[in-house]
Amino acid sequence: MNSRELKKLSRRSFLASSLRTALFSAGAMSTSAFAQPTPWRNWSGGLSCQPAGRHDIGSEDQLADILASTRGTIRPVGSGHSFSPLIPTDGHLVIIDQLSGILDHDNRSMQATFGAGSRLGDLGAPLQELGQGMMNLPDIDRQTVAGATATGTHGTGIRFKSLSGYVTALRLITPRGEVLDINASDGDLFDAARVNLGALGVVTQIRMQNRDAYKLKKREWTAPTEELLAEFDERAANHRHFEIFPLVYSDYSLALQIDETDEPIGQTIIPAEEVELSDLRRPGLQATPAEKLALNNALAQNAEMTEAVDLSYKLLSNIRSNPFNEMEYSVPAEVGAECVREILRTIYDQAIDVAFPLEFRYVSPEDPWLSMAYGDEPHATISIHRTASADYRPYFDIIEPIFWKYGGRPHWGKIHSLGYEQLKELYPRYRDFMEIRESLDPDGRMLNEHLKLLFNA
Ligand SMILES: Cc1cc2nc3c(=O)[nH]c(=O)nc-3n(C[C@H](O)[C@H](O)[C@H](O)COP(=O)(O)OP(=O)(O)OC[C@H]3O[C@@H](n4cnc5c(N)ncnc54)[C@H](O)[C@@H]3O)c2cc1C
Repeated sequence: MNSRELKKLSRRSFLASSLRTALFSAGAMSTSAFAQPTPWRNWSGGLSCQPAGRHDIGSEDQLADILASTRGTIRPVGSGHSFSPLIPTDGHLVIIDQLSGILDHDNRSMQATFGAGSRLGDLGAPLQELGQGMMNLPDIDRQTVAGATATGTHGTGIRFKSLSGYVTALRLITPRGEVLDINASDGDLFDAARVNLGALGVVTQIRMQNRDAYKLKKREWTAPTEELLAEFDERAANHRHFEIFPLVYSDYSLALQIDETDEPIGQTIIPAEEVELSDLRRPGLQATPAEKLALNNALAQNAEMTEAVDLSYKLLSNIRSNPFNEMEYSVPAEVGAECVREILRTIYDQAIDVAFPLEFRYVSPEDPWLSMAYGDEPHATISIHRTASADYRPYFDIIEPIFWKYGGRPHWGKIHSLGYEQLKELYPRYRDFMEIRESLDPDGRMLNEHLKLLFNA
């Protein structure tokens, strides 16, 4: 690339070379039950299994039959967007894609009941037609409602709970075939079932608290990471959503701020002031950290700012088509910035071969026992990513202890190496969850090898 081409790098192409290398094709899955089931594979391709049975459920009665007529492990499957081995089994996979859609709604309470196999992204338009919008959405919307809530999937915003925090009722079919309609009046069972890791049974319906349909305005720009970290609490308090993607080998981050608006739908691109890049050589594979830093900083300074207005469900989530693997921990919000700094410093000092940015967000405290934001204090969530074609372990093994140092709790759907001994210390109601799990599934049918490690079973 010559200097003129470099100069032309717009914000978009900058993101293409940095974020896109990094950030994000939904792995298509067969949903039929075959005599010879097809192997299962997750979105990133890092996990696979050859189940004995793959059951595409069309009704709750059919699900009850499968539970009664099969032996061995049962794992419910969403859209396979988890990076951690929650699904793999040589037993039976239960696929509930057909249990989808809006089953009922009420515009006085602004609640709606969804088939648990609905993809988040398929609910936005029909909810909008009914006058409702979901409170918040994660970075992508290809997850199922059951899969997303099972792992405490969250978006950005200090005033916003995870999706599980907006569940007002759910229907759980236990491995013994009992049908449990669970809501807040069920107390402990409700708090256990809203983030359940697919370990309590199969969820078939979920009712959620929504709000009136709304539009959002998103602003994206790059700025020095230290400046953004210094402003983080104020921006998080004063804007509906605020998050940053700290760039590795750079003093800069991409900032993302979203607020409610009545402005017309559209997009504006504000060109950056041109920065002279001609003195920079594009670092090759062997570039030193200092060379990468110089180039990334210049590219970040040359990035355009964008503003976009759209319906909430179109603006909150993104399409990520380059597969990657991810580790995410939550830490108390007050130590989040320091944790980010230590990760960035470690990547630089150890010259770790990674191009993906970090992601740094705040989430509201909430009640579901296994939420990574359980308790009374807001949490910061911090993610690291590695392209799916490369081995993530060397990188993640170096960074994970940094999360532990700051009291980090792992995201259940993302890669971590913790087991029962550590988890029971991090989640105050962990043993209570285990008791409920044992009472609903005394034979351990919902447990694969990964879940046995988590629950010491
Ligand atoms: C590109 C990408 C971006 C992401 N962005 C975010 C983000 O912004 N925020 C965030 O928090 N997470 C994020 N995640 C993680 C993702 O949201 C979670 O891993 C989520 O659980 C995946 O949902 P799924 O439908 O694919 O479920 P799966 O991965 O298929 O399953 C997840 C869990 O749900 C259980 N489950 C599924 N269906 C049922 C059911 N019917 N009954 C009971 N249990 C069930 C499974 O057994 C399993 O334990 C992202 C993942 C990817 C790949």
